Amino acid sequence: MPRPALVARHLSHCYPTARGELWALREVSLALMPGEFVAVVGPSGCGKTTLLRILAGLLPPTRGEVWLGDRPLRGPDRRVGIVFQKDALLPWRTTLENVRLPLELDGCPRPEADRRARALLEQVGLQGFEEAYPRELSGGMQQRVALARALVADPEILLLDEPFATLDALTRERLNEVLIALWERQRKTVLMVTHDVPEAVWLADRVLVMSPRPGAVVAEVRIPLPRPRGADRWSHPAFLQTVWAVRQALGDGAR
Ligand code: ADP
Ligand code: MG
Repeated sequence: MPRPALVARHLSHCYPTARGELWALREVSLALMPGEFVAVVGPSGCGKTTLLRILAGLLPPTRGEVWLGDRPLRGPDRRVGIVFQKDALLPWRTTLENVRLPLELDGCPRPEADRRARALLEQVGLQGFEEAYPRELSGGMQQRVALARALVADPEILLLDEPFATLDALTRERLNEVLIALWERQRKTVLMVTHDVPEAVWLADRVLVMSPRPGAVVAEVRIPLPRPRGADRWSHPAFLQTVWAVRQALGDGAR
């Protein structure tokens, strides 16, 4: 058995609030194998973003631990790339300048940084927009830039926190295709949080289902669909059956 790329053990998280302790996560354990695409679905407020922030090293868990390969995670780590729901692109930087930022911070020479940023922009279908500013781009294009920026420093693990949640349905499906193509090419280990069940099923190898807060992983659904997966999700009976199974696991009141 290969070693997992990321392991989380017994993560619990408590936020102190004016009204006392608020437990956002309860005993979450998971392991991501190298090259695996795992989706996490759960109702709003169940602790998905909390989980992702912990896995990114941005938030120390109240209890539990995270390991990347054979090392414990102690804080933000360049082996982890992350895309948030609404990504904070720097408004005064062009597309190319936004994407190459992580490389600049690493001290990568400018010509190489530009070359790598351009290659990523091409992979997300944004060639020709290198000199555009974020305000000149649609929401879907901005998320493509965020994806390129998260991948430019070649992280081992990509964490995605509802990256397409603010986009309309068609743009979202197109971005799903961009993401699948990227993943099939690069085979990063991906953990994607979403509350969109069809999106989770279409993209992932398995889906982890979380309970309402405090979020715990209550089910795991393996996705029996062949790869590569194209744009024809709705024509697969197994797709619809698996969407149904995940919805059942989520239970009433949560989709
Ligand atoms: P999700 O991403 O699944 O919607 P979150 O992880 O954002 O859930 O939040 C889980 C719970 O923790 C929610 O009830 C939210 O209000 C609460 N929460 C999130 N961040 C904080 C914080 N910084 N302080 C206090 N409570 C928080
Ligand atoms: Mg969230």
